[in-house]
Amino acid sequence: MWGLTWDERLLDLLLPRTCAGCREDLPPPMQGPLCGPCLGLLARRRLPPPRRRNGRLLGPVSAAFAYAPPLPALVHAFKYGRRLAVGDALGAWMAGAWGLGEGGAAPDALVPVPLHPRRERDRGFNQARILARWVSGRTGVPVWDALRRQTHTPPQARVRRSRRARAMTNAFRADPDLDLWARRIVLIDDVCTTGGTLEGCALALFEAGAAAVDAFVLAQA
Ligand SMILES: [Zn+2]
Repeated sequence: MWGLTWDERLLDLLLPRTCAGCREDLPPPMQGPLCGPCLGLLARRRLPPPRRRNGRLLGPVSAAFAYAPPLPALVHAFKYGRRLAVGDALGAWMAGAWGLGEGGAAPDALVPVPLHPRRERDRGFNQARILARWVSGRTGVPVWDALRRQTHTPPQARVRRSRRARAMTNAFRADPDLDLWARRIVLIDDVCTTGGTLEGCALALFEAGAAAVDAFVLAQA
């Protein structure tokens, strides 16, 4: 499951209980992943619902949190430290912040932003898919793996913004075996910075016939 070995999963369970935000030891019986002060900080990172982006295609992007401490440490522990328990906590918090569709039609599907297959193989999982499953568990909206990432883009921090936006335009394509015609889609991702990745995903979904594409992300940088 997720491509991790059982040893790695066991290790994740047995890791010392330290706060994933500040790395202090957690006093028993606290299980983490955050200590009390970091939890308080997290509560203040909640964002109000959606901000409409300037993009022509993509609808409103909602974020559960602002990308400010302790979020960067949590996301890092999840993605690069492969602490799946942290990912599960993030997924549960994100699901709790779900507000899309309130007063409107529920979306047809949640579509996680894909990783390039090579990167997903290296990491052992796609963090966006794990988050999407948590949101799906709360909302009942199904998760569709509707997109493929067709270019292996360099880590975004190393690419300038303008180049990054252009690189994302053709980075994704929709799965031709899925019928996306007239579907209302909500993209799911971990961190949104410029929105270029989400725009690239939206473009591919609209080209496949989707009627509306919004986004819900864990944190907005
Ligand atoms: Zn802490």
